[in-house]
Amino acid sequence: MSLDNLRDLYQQVILERYKKPKFKGKTDPVDRYQKGHNPSCGDTIELTLHLNEAGDRIEEVRFDGEGCAISMASADLMAEALRGKTTTEALAMVQRFQAMMRGEEEFPQEQRKLNVMQGVAQFPVRIKCANLSWHTLKAAIENAAEAQPAGFISNE
Ligand code: ZN
Repeated sequence: MSLDNLRDLYQQVILERYKKPKFKGKTDPVDRYQKGHNPSCGDTIELTLHLNEAGDRIEEVRFDGEGCAISMASADLMAEALRGKTTTEALAMVQRFQAMMRGEEEFPQEQRKLNVMQGVAQFPVRIKCANLSWHTLKAAIENAAEAQPAGFISNE
């Protein structure tokens, strides 16, 4: 497949996800909530997470928001890829996605759908659009982890 055809394929998947997202909405219940904004393009996202009881595994991710095709498709693909992942695995995926946007890495076979976003790395102005949902996810996971110690009473 030529590079041009491959690029067309990527664009098709991105447009398809933008027009018919599979993971739009809010989770029920909402265990984590985080807003994200990309001022350079005007994309906004509201991410909700449903976690398991221990709070260390993602049961479901949903998103709401408005933005360009790349930001919305990226959020939809991310939501799909995160089902059943631990929060640790999810944070590693954030790192990998950001590395992919720098042209350094790609996802392994089982998460290869995310590699569709690889083409965006060729358009530096759109990288922030693709990264928005992942950046927001990182905040959703880490902010909660920081808040946790204060919520615990120590008996020492
Ligand atoms: Zn955008």
